[in-house]
Amino acid sequence: MNIVVLGPPGAGKGTHSSRISDRYDLIHITTGDIIRDEISRETEIGRKAKKYVQSGKLVPDEIVIEMMRKRLARKDCKDGFVLDGFPRTVNQAEALDEITDIDVVINLGVPKDVLIKRLSSRRICRDCGEVYNLVSMRSEKPGVCDECGGELYQREDDRPEVVEKRLEEYDKQTKPVLGYYRKKSKVKDVIIKKEEPVEKIVQMVFDALDETVD
Ligand code: AMP
Repeated sequence: MNIVVLGPPGAGKGTHSSRISDRYDLIHITTGDIIRDEISRETEIGRKAKKYVQSGKLVPDEIVIEMMRKRLARKDCKDGFVLDGFPRTVNQAEALDEITDIDVVINLGVPKDVLIKRLSSRRICRDCGEVYNLVSMRSEKPGVCDECGGELYQREDDRPEVVEKRLEEYDKQTKPVLGYYRKKSKVKDVIIKKEEPVEKIVQMVFDALDETVD
């Protein structure tokens, strides 16, 4: 099964893709992580992508499509994958259709005020990559990872001025992708109206997928 998880920044694409990947035994591919890794290794792709990521803009299609074409050609993708953060433009969706078939698209719908609150309070562990929300931190120690004791940091593009641009890019460039897949009847909507416990939303996602698998 090949799955795409769509949704605005802060909708929980990473969390839900990771849970889907565990449950259905699929490879989890996160475009944002691949791009951040290219930037930190200062590769050619990283050098080209950096200014777009820092300002909250989408990296140009030709760069991302080539990068994903290579990733999806790897052997570990042949038994199915969950795509988290790709495609984000109609051009990318068309290119993906040429590379492989997509079975289902999960659309995570979350109100804008919830997205902004989540993104501004998101913190990530520098050592193990665990993602936290300042409000739901379990530990007593501020700024420290509950899992491994690593230092927590805020992604540069989670700062308020960049978040606004990312949400704008989503409306302009990624919403049409939803229309693209709706025409193909591939979309399963998981819509929340207010903040809900994460396990409840995970279950809604699994229910939507189980309908497709059966
Ligand atoms: P994310 O971690 O998914 O929020 O992505 C972080 C940033 O990486 C985005 O704001 C974009 O600058 C870039 N990015 C991630 N995925 C894509 C994509 N499919 N197309 C273009 N840019 C992307």
